[in-house]
Amino acid sequence: MDYYRDTWAEVDLDAIKWNVRQTIACLDASMTLFAAVKANAYGHGDVQVANAALEAGAEGLAVAFLDEALSLRKAGITAPILVLGASRPENAGIAAEHNISLTVHDNEWLKHVQIERDQTLRIHIKCDTGMGRLGVKTAAELQSVIDELNGSPSYLFEGVFTHFATADEIDTSYFEQQLSAFQLLVSSMSEKPPYIHCANSAASLRFQGGGFNTVRLGISMYGLTPSPEIQSILPFELKPSFSLRTKLVHVKRMNEGDKVSYGAAYRASEGEWIGTLPIGYADGWIRKLTGQEVLIDGKRVPIVGRICMDQCMIRLPYEYSVGTEVTLIGSQEGQVITMDEIAAKLETINYEIPCLITARVPRIYK
Ligand code: PLP
Repeated sequence: MDYYRDTWAEVDLDAIKWNVRQTIACLDASMTLFAAVKANAYGHGDVQVANAALEAGAEGLAVAFLDEALSLRKAGITAPILVLGASRPENAGIAAEHNISLTVHDNEWLKHVQIERDQTLRIHIKCDTGMGRLGVKTAAELQSVIDELNGSPSYLFEGVFTHFATADEIDTSYFEQQLSAFQLLVSSMSEKPPYIHCANSAASLRFQGGGFNTVRLGISMYGLTPSPEIQSILPFELKPSFSLRTKLVHVKRMNEGDKVSYGAAYRASEGEWIGTLPIGYADGWIRKLTGQEVLIDGKRVPIVGRICMDQCMIRLPYEYSVGTEVTLIGSQEGQVITMDEIAAKLETINYEIPCLITARVPRIYK
């Protein structure tokens, strides 16, 4: 595809493959890994990341919604895909038609499933062990879903899982509570499905998947730490895969008191050089990033004035040519602006940042 703008996100698929391979190497050889590629692979590009993860040894993929699974199938991906979130039971036939596994989070859901007689729907049961989001809570509820599944030839009971709320915290007490609750639920099952999984990135890397046979790897596949507090105890150094780059499209010398951007809130001093970048809040480079530094020529310079919808301005130490590359996230000449730095500036988590970068920013793969 051709692009005609000078702002792009660079996605390093080799880094993604490396992170997946390193994770697999940390797990028991009998375990399998599902790559979490929901939300357009956390903003990195679902099809490209899915293919990279599968090439690196992932057995399957996990998404949040049926639509995401269907779009992967449409792109020709035949690997197992699990929809982690709630799907409409009346759409079960579409999932079955495309060999997509759905999550059942309560018994009521199964009563409304619409599926043809000759179809088979692959099912994972979600257990709520303390996340308080989706899932059955007790062994009795779990058994009643299993009984319902066993009562119909339309279902293939493929997996059981839970999700941790605090696996990325140094204090492991709540994680341990959830893990014990899941262990109890699993041990209450007289027959076990092929996939039993509880681990996100943090639990995969810190606790080898919690002792079950499958993990769901998201954030650390992208080379990002699940939380800053556990960065130093991860078993290997993650390789970030997402860089955000742009180019100077205009450079001007300001006079004393000249103003920059909406609100005329930034006042330049005599002889200051201001550069304009073709990226703004409609790209997800939101207004709260005013003051954030970017890299040019391996140096940090600040964004000045309000960030506009499509553009923002930076203060240059001296004149640079139009076309000079600027890095907003990633490395340049030995300097780096990490996703965590942007997340800290925005008072959020690194997960949110690549998801915020909108579809208007082309993803370029290397
Ligand atoms: N499993 C479920 C149910 C999730 O919601 C997520 C992500 O939010 C993941 C796995 C992957 O988690 P992480 O990105 O922390 O590895």
